[in-house]
Amino acid sequence: MEENPLLDEINKFGMQDIIIDLFNSLSAVRELSEINCQGNNEKKLIKNALAALIHNQDMERCSFFLLNDEGYLVNLTGTSSCEIAEESNEDYSPIQFKVGEGVIGAAAETGELQNCPDCQKDERFSEHIKDSECLMPGSVISVPVFAAGNELLGVLNISHPEAHYFSEWHVRLLEIYKNMMGQLISNFRLLQNMEDQVKHRTIKLEEALIDLEKLRQHFESASMLDQLTGLYNRRYFYDQVEVAVANTKRYGQALCLLILDLDFFKDVNDCYGHGFGDKVLVKISEALQQQVRESDILVRFGGEEFIVIFTNTDCTNGKVFSERIRSTIEVLKWEDKENFSQTVSIGLFCLGAESFTADHESEMNIDKIIHYADTALYKAKELGRNKVVLFSKDMLKKTI
Ligand code: GH3
Ligand code: MG
Ligand code: MG
Repeated sequence: MEENPLLDEINKFGMQDIIIDLFNSLSAVRELSEINCQGNNEKKLIKNALAALIHNQDMERCSFFLLNDEGYLVNLTGTSSCEIAEESNEDYSPIQFKVGEGVIGAAAETGELQNCPDCQKDERFSEHIKDSECLMPGSVISVPVFAAGNELLGVLNISHPEAHYFSEWHVRLLEIYKNMMGQLISNFRLLQNMEDQVKHRTIKLEEALIDLEKLRQHFESASMLDQLTGLYNRRYFYDQVEVAVANTKRYGQALCLLILDLDFFKDVNDCYGHGFGDKVLVKISEALQQQVRESDILVRFGGEEFIVIFTNTDCTNGKVFSERIRSTIEVLKWEDKENFSQTVSIGLFCLGAESFTADHESEMNIDKIIHYADTALYKAKELGRNKVVLFSKDMLKKTI
């Protein structure tokens, strides 16, 4: 008749004991299958798995040796034959074996279960455990644990103080437990990996969004800058002027708007070339920049026309500032062109809180303000150029 070790066990222990063992094993399998691999601590996960075995099986001692990157099997957690690995014990230095060393190392090296029924007599049993102060177990079974794809994860180890304690029953059960532990650890790592990837991608996505925002801001400000002079352009002007006008209306802060146009600039281009004309525009822009404050608005409105808004400035000061601009530009020096002088004409419009009285309110808007300043500029040109002219209502009557 064919040999059957389980039949031997039935004969040896009796049917009742075998049924109790069967129930205990099923309970261990159920507990193992119920372990949730969500969380962020592999050690805790393995500890729970070992607890499921200890609760339901009379193994007494049970531990797990995890394979690390250096090729060592490290007693990560569990009840080892030496001591209980307490997380809180900072001095705890885990027992470790090289792959191939001792029973545990042999299980890792061969990939097969190592049954050590009598440790005292077994030459596979590690010398350094025999020599140490650790309590020598009587019997040990070490079984390698694999992840999917045959990657070795570690070694599951059970021990008992009595020699010849473990039976064929234990051996077969351990084969099941190690498969379940392998899946549990693999699932945990897969989940961790996915979570890490999600975190990594979230960080990358956030970085990309920040870059995108910077790029958007860059293009937005670039689209509001004039290429030649570096001043803001007409787009920026319309973006800002609403606020300035609203402040005058709400808080009564007067403002002065100047339209400044270069005199006979066409002739400058015709006479000295477009390149020199560009230089004139740049130099005048620089001069204007020096005349305005942070809170003022200065733009190249188009061609050879500039607009300045002096915020929080009344008409008297507006006239002074405008005249200072005109006279500063008039005396600018121009490289090798000693006799050359570029003048500008300025149309000035002053907007005060009184401009928003009930009668005028419906009329006052940005286009109108520009139109008034432009009318004054036209007058300045008419009066012979190189002049500042303040807008007055009678200029409108005359042009109609
Ligand atoms: P007025 O005193 O009446 O303003 O005479 P003007 O010659 O300045 O007026 P006009 O509008 O006839 O000419 C403006 C000139 O400005 C024409 C154009 O070639 C020149 N211009 C506009 N933009 C630029 C620029 O970016 N660079 C150069 N070099 N010239 C420009
Ligand atoms: Mg012009
Ligand atoms: Mg001009």
